[in-house]
Amino acid sequence: MDCLFCKIANGEIPSNKAYEDEDVIAFYDLNPQAPTHILLIPKKHIGSARDIDASSSKVVAHIFEVIAKLATELRLEDGFRVVTNCGESAGQSVQHLHFHLLSGRAFSWPPG
Ligand code: 5GP
Ligand code: ZN
Repeated sequence: MDCLFCKIANGEIPSNKAYEDEDVIAFYDLNPQAPTHILLIPKKHIGSARDIDASSSKVVAHIFEVIAKLATELRLEDGFRVVTNCGESAGQSVQHLHFHLLSGRAFSWPPG
């Protein structure tokens, strides 16, 4: 399958990694929208949040454990935002489930 984030997960395309284990990889976004902008993905292909089911929810829970670990390690003490864009109107541009971890500036609410 021709999927950019599958290629990052298997090392075919290089990335600046923040964390990696058997199931999950976290890497710095190429076009950061905040001083800290990390993408967290399951290594196994999942299209989007719409495709999470009983067989894949475990890795999603694990991604949130990794987010908490990175927030401590990277000292994101002022706060952070976690975002997943799903579908066209939400602005999803890569069709492999990913969570944006954003920190280092103030974020508006509601989001634009
Ligand atoms: P989306 O728009 O789907 O929510 O997020 C996709 C993100 O992937 C964007 O923030 C974009 O900057 C990032 N991105 C796209 N291609 C690459 C790449 O080749 N390497 C990295 N590190 N990030 C990428
Ligand atoms: Zn993929």
